[in-house]
Amino acid sequence: MTASHSASPPPAPFDQPSPGTSPDAVGFDVAALDAKLRAASPLEIIAAGLAAFPGRIAAVSSFGTESAVLLHMISEVDKATPVLFLDTGHLFEETLAYRDTLAERLGLTNVLTFSPDPAALAARDPEKGLWADDPDACCGLRKVEPLARALGPYAAWINGRKRYQASTRADIPFVEQDGARVKFNPLAALGRDDLIAYMDAHGLPRHPMEKFGFPSIGCMPCTSRVKPGEDPRAGRWRGKSKTECGIHVGDGN
Ligand code: SF4
Repeated sequence: MTASHSASPPPAPFDQPSPGTSPDAVGFDVAALDAKLRAASPLEIIAAGLAAFPGRIAAVSSFGTESAVLLHMISEVDKATPVLFLDTGHLFEETLAYRDTLAERLGLTNVLTFSPDPAALAARDPEKGLWADDPDACCGLRKVEPLARALGPYAAWINGRKRYQASTRADIPFVEQDGARVKFNPLAALGRDDLIAYMDAHGLPRHPMEKFGFPSIGCMPCTSRVKPGEDPRAGRWRGKSKTECGIHVGDGN
């Protein structure tokens, strides 16, 4: 079993672990831990997650425009925490470079890159044009399936969703059940200003495309520049009814 480290040469197209069995987190008292953490800081929530699931928890990051905050906090608690990153095959070079820059800067030692299954790509998207015909199927093939595979060995995961991002996220707790896994949302209570203040206070590098009018960055074919006054996610799947990729990582992806 191998997986690519962020500081290593580019990974082979499909060098990730095959689907693993999901350690069962059903029965874990999610509500009790969430209640206990109600007044906790994001760092304390991350630490609680790592303590509750030693060796069985990973973070998921898109290395997007807000990702540096969660990643910096994780690095403060444990730099060896697995950080799962999905390379869809349609990402901007700048995002891949930012992954490596941030990982090195924060000293993260376990950034793992996952790619779509090449056999599935060959069968379902041989011309790499599925994004135009059926973006939901494309996200399923290039994001949802690889994430399920990446999370296979873990009983819990940490992501960067915030309540301010959408009305559908307004009530997300710090800890919740997510199928057979437990999901931690340590940044849930933070607003956009909090994130900017945190990045400034810690001198964190910003995604290189942000200053060129890209407040939310995903795959190349589905990301466009946002005009002043537009919603930050207006450049995602522009012209289509689609607004989410289906994995709900929430850290700028
Ligand atoms: S964001 Fe676009 S290119 Fe990326 S996986 Fe989804 S549909 Fe495909």
